[in-house]
Amino acid sequence: MKTETCTHIPIATAGIEVVSCGDCGEVGWFRRGEWLDPAEGMAVLFGQYDLVGRLEALSAPAPEVLLYRPPSGRWRAHLDVFPKHVWLEVSPDLFLSHDGEHLLLAPVDQLYFDNLTQGA
Ligand SMILES: [Zn+2]
Repeated sequence: MKTETCTHIPIATAGIEVVSCGDCGEVGWFRRGEWLDPAEGMAVLFGQYDLVGRLEALSAPAPEVLLYRPPSGRWRAHLDVFPKHVWLEVSPDLFLSHDGEHLLLAPVDQLYFDNLTQGA
């Protein structure tokens, strides 16, 4: 939910634009001004990330958190468009956070979780 302190300015990275807000937790994805499916946006920014571990969710909105590492500095930079240490709602089933080095995903839905971890 948008609050008075929200700015919601799109930031361009990797050929798409991302709006992410640490105040309300909202995330929006766009390509050339057109709405982009969150799954596609996630794939563009984090498709090459490696799953490196699982954490017990402490303050996360899901029971378990998946930890991903970028394959290079260029990929790591994709994290910088998101505010650090905040859970952002990618979709009703998926929350995202990061610490500047790792991507943290908290899938709320078990099916979604299984899809993400398949083959990992
Ligand atoms: Zn906001």
